[in-house]
Amino acid sequence: MNTEAAGAETPSLGEAIVARIHELGAISETPDHLARLFLTREHRAAADLILGWMRAAGMRAHVDAVGNVCGRYEGHEFGRPCLMLGSHYDTVRDAGKWDGPLGIVTAISCVADLNRRGRRLPFAIEVIGFADEEGVRFASTLLGSRAVAGTFDESVLGKSDTAGITMRQALASFGLDPDHVGRAARTRSELLAYVELHIEQGPVLEDQNLPVGVVTAISGATRLAARLTGMAGHAGTVPMKQRKDALAGAAECIGAIEQFCRTDEGGLVGTVGYIHAAPGATNVIPGRVSFTIDIRAPGDAHRRRAVTDLVRQIESIAKRRDLGLQLDVTHENRSVPCADWLKRQIADAIASEGYRVLELPSGAGHDGMAMIDVADVAMIFVRCKGGISHHPDEHVDTADVDAGARALLRMIENFQPRDEAQ
Ligand SMILES: [Zn+2]
Repeated sequence: MNTEAAGAETPSLGEAIVARIHELGAISETPDHLARLFLTREHRAAADLILGWMRAAGMRAHVDAVGNVCGRYEGHEFGRPCLMLGSHYDTVRDAGKWDGPLGIVTAISCVADLNRRGRRLPFAIEVIGFADEEGVRFASTLLGSRAVAGTFDESVLGKSDTAGITMRQALASFGLDPDHVGRAARTRSELLAYVELHIEQGPVLEDQNLPVGVVTAISGATRLAARLTGMAGHAGTVPMKQRKDALAGAAECIGAIEQFCRTDEGGLVGTVGYIHAAPGATNVIPGRVSFTIDIRAPGDAHRRRAVTDLVRQIESIAKRRDLGLQLDVTHENRSVPCADWLKRQIADAIASEGYRVLELPSGAGHDGMAMIDVADVAMIFVRCKGGISHHPDEHVDTADVDAGARALLRMIENFQPRDEAQ
């Protein structure tokens, strides 16, 4: 009969998580604009705070060879393979508090809840706070998860930050040995799966009025650099029919990219985020234009087909307008599908919490992109206000934090390793 009163005194999972998100969010290079970059003093302070939370939740915890914070909660028997949960604790500059930390703090809270109840499972649980996902300091992303997956490229150790400090030096001053990054690598036999809870960073869940969703895949991306060359000329004297206006040609290309992606029903998105016209004067016809194209889709074949079709359209626009065209692929990364057997278990957990199950792709990159090389991966998205992220206005309602935590906890408690799940 006292359950209600007891419930009122104990903060919900969501409330406890939100308090910690604010505590972690206060650890920043600059007090007014959150920035917590790989291997900085603030980064170390955040690692220490997370280590303390892991230990209080009944985990053994340490910082690994690349700066990841790792906690382990044993199962019924010591030394069993683990279900790995986590996200990253570095940030972009002028960041929000939720991107990354929500996944770490929620996972720790789920373990703390099991520990409080004395509940052990047939497998171990590990929580990992990846040291670098955003890649701001050394312009190289997913450093923490690549080290765990055993795909860390040692040549990045020689890269310098804007102050001229190499990653090698930064690791040493963090208290790590740059020659031992390889020791962070884990093997496939140690991991049953990698599951990450993360804010959506987009407006789909909000639009669907749902607190959580199941991620289908992390979209792959192709980036291209386009350059159109026409003929500069006097804006007053060259008749319209005799012009080779590179900017008007680029405008037609941009319109075609938007139209193509808008009419696609498979989650294709396309963006022209940068454009530069030369010579760039009010009274001169633009002779040269450079612009970028970013194309993403949940499936690789779909994305490649789309890129081929778009390239053909751009080529024909350039030809019709008699413009020179140079088109180069500057970046390409594969899509990472979430494993069906894990998606099913996440969907079951969400449904058991009383929510409609919505599947959606992740247009943004995540640590799962590296972890796929060492384990099957899956993700749970939590609604964020207005879909805003990488911005101080990033926000998640406490009720949604709670819904995400309850879904994750249920997923953990009902988790069936792959062999048993099939
Ligand atoms: Zn993130």
